[in-house]
Amino acid sequence: MKSINPHSGELIRAYDPQDDAEVKRLLAEADAVSREWRKSGFADRAQLMKRAGGVLRERKQELAALMADEMGKVLRDGEAEVEKCAGCCDYYADNAQRFLANEPVESDAEDSYIAYDPLGAVLAVMPWNFPFWQVFRFAAPALMAGNVGVLKHASNVSGCALAIQDIFEAAGFPRHAFTTLLAGSASIEGVIRNPAIKAVTLTGSSPAGRSVAGIAGSELKKAVLELGGSDAYLVLDDADLEMAVDVCVKSRLINAGQSCIAAKRFIVAKSLLPAFEQGFVERFKRIRAGDPHDPQSDIGPMARADLRDEVHRQVRDSIGQGARLLCGGEVPGGAGAYYPATVLSGVRPGMTAFDEEIFGPVAAIIEAADEEQAIALANQSPFGLGAALFTRDKARADRIARRIEAGSVFVNAFVKSDVRLPFGGVKQSGFGRELSWFGIREFVNVKTMYHA
Ligand code: NDP
Repeated sequence: MKSINPHSGELIRAYDPQDDAEVKRLLAEADAVSREWRKSGFADRAQLMKRAGGVLRERKQELAALMADEMGKVLRDGEAEVEKCAGCCDYYADNAQRFLANEPVESDAEDSYIAYDPLGAVLAVMPWNFPFWQVFRFAAPALMAGNVGVLKHASNVSGCALAIQDIFEAAGFPRHAFTTLLAGSASIEGVIRNPAIKAVTLTGSSPAGRSVAGIAGSELKKAVLELGGSDAYLVLDDADLEMAVDVCVKSRLINAGQSCIAAKRFIVAKSLLPAFEQGFVERFKRIRAGDPHDPQSDIGPMARADLRDEVHRQVRDSIGQGARLLCGGEVPGGAGAYYPATVLSGVRPGMTAFDEEIFGPVAAIIEAADEEQAIALANQSPFGLGAALFTRDKARADRIARRIEAGSVFVNAFVKSDVRLPFGGVKQSGFGRELSWFGIREFVNVKTMYHA
């Protein structure tokens, strides 16, 4: 398992995967700790979770540098990610007890209510794109609910994976309340099938999700999946165009385009198309891609060279299918997994840039003749994670939003995760929800209590 600096191409460190016996031992430890941890009270858990937030803030610069080195995130964004994780720890420390309080229900019983009990050890299979945030948004609610966490992180961010375990230990959590496994994806089947693991959550690609959920299903273990997206941003004919272009550009370039909820398909009213293209290309041409440690860089390299090569293949295929290249589209010479901010226009269904998720700094602009066609194009995707609408008419936005097949619709803003709001998708983007009270209730036993 190699951590390779995507800016320089140099090997940072190779980690030996743990063998089966070691993995089994760690799972047994997690299982044993979960039996004690579930008895702890909310106040004690909250105190530790607040401390985890404190440790994150203390180590913010160091952790941002680790992300820059392992997966190319610019420091500014890495620091913001660590802050967001700390905020998530605080949020669940403050709210878990309320979210999981007994809920009285009137029935024919003298007293009946709903109680939320922990499940035990939950496996989290996580990706490299937000190596801390993806993990904390699972771990903070899961641990506060009385579960323990077992992490299988992406093989290119083992340094981040170990740092997360260390953060929980430094905060004073019992050893193995949160355990990082160093394991490749091939050994995950045995982990899911191990009786110590009660449920699994995965954030990543649809093939990974299908495999993990299939194995979990065969074991009758619950799974939550947060998979890819090809979010449509609908720029309607009454949009504030300058604002829409600014927001669209920003969203497409989040994390060098490597975000499940980045804007990917821009469906633009015909009357606004020329001005939208012009504004978009002007802004994309100003983007500086460079060393993630350099404060002048707007975006860093992509996380791995193979991911960059895949994005380039998708761009070449789309051009071959008739898309117009407005800027970018050339792999730069020199070291590093860099890809330029690229704009494709004239994109239509049947082209790679429309049908597939492009996980890099590539915008696909699509013309819509009218509102009905815009909605149909937005929904003509195997994915259903997020979507955004740009219009000055709130009632129109509400009406259209309800017809969009996605887990969230943002109006005049880009899609983002917020601890207070549920996050997840429909269709090939997965099922289940993270964050808010929905997220913390995914991994609990919803227990009916009945007193005759
Ligand atoms: P993967 O989905 O392959 O990796 C994400 C995580 O899943 C990693 O921990 C990976 O482990 C693990 N994994 C992969 N396959 C399996 C499997 N069969 N069983 C168990 N675990 C598995 O993403 P990639 O890094 O290959 O990126 C490819 C594409 O995935 C991207 O281009 C993008 O479309 C999508 N993606 C979506 C993300 C999102 O936020 N929804 C995040 C990252 C990627 P290992 O690293 O050891 O293979």
